[in-house]
Amino acid sequence: MPEMPEVQAHAERLTEAFAGATLDRFRPLAFTALKTAVPAPEAAAGHPLVEVGRRGKHLLLRFEPVTFVVHLMQGGRLRPDEKQAGKPRGGQARWTFADGRALLLTEAGTERKAGVWVVEGEPDGQEPLAELGPEAATLDRTTLGRLLAEQSMRLHGWLRDQRIVAGLGRRLANEICHRARLSPFGTTAKLDEEAVDRLHAAIGACIDESLAYERTRSDMSSSKDRPGAVHHREGEACPVCGDTVRAVEYRSYTVNYCPTCQTGGKVLADNTTSKFLK
Ligand SMILES: [Zn+2]
Repeated sequence: MPEMPEVQAHAERLTEAFAGATLDRFRPLAFTALKTAVPAPEAAAGHPLVEVGRRGKHLLLRFEPVTFVVHLMQGGRLRPDEKQAGKPRGGQARWTFADGRALLLTEAGTERKAGVWVVEGEPDGQEPLAELGPEAATLDRTTLGRLLAEQSMRLHGWLRDQRIVAGLGRRLANEICHRARLSPFGTTAKLDEEAVDRLHAAIGACIDESLAYERTRSDMSSSKDRPGAVHHREGEACPVCGDTVRAVEYRSYTVNYCPTCQTGGKVLADNTTSKFLK
């Protein structure tokens, strides 16, 4: 799934290309695409796109009267629509501009989870952004320490929980734990001050590195292209210490880690029923 750096760089590219273009019309192409009834998307017609912003993993297409909040989920993409076909493959919604160009939201696969919400006023605090925690990228050290203590859970799950901090996903959770030399299964409330310092630095460094990479691209990367030390690198050598990168598989994600760097050399069993993990 695209995480903060991918979505942020994409928002910047779309702003560069489309800001100032006047919306002619918005049209859902699949009945599940538009998640809101009020306000009507027609409210944006005749208005220029102010910018494409981002909150968490959502894109925000801001027009003066309303904002379109787009969540790409796993397989969604929002791209310039060169062909403007009648029934584009995976087509979910289309924004057509007065200058003849268009943006197309597509979703690969059959999950139909990507969606568009139309909101009036400041989108932050409204659905689907109402529950989001503060942005991971701008979290200060003190707030991070407080949130870790308040919501005690395993670090990997904590980092991915959008209600606690927004913008991180499976890949960055793996990379941040590795960079901070912390076990993904460690308990957040038990982290000492020095560990919180390392975690804070790792969050910033991993986001900056990924964002710098994404900004060199003309479209969103796929996960295999993204920079990293451990994510999807099971069996490879850890670039820090040379130990073998390990994996613990869950139904919808994989935790990758380096035993030497992160778990005091302990290799965690590769399933969720392990006593060690309970
Ligand atoms: Zn290592």
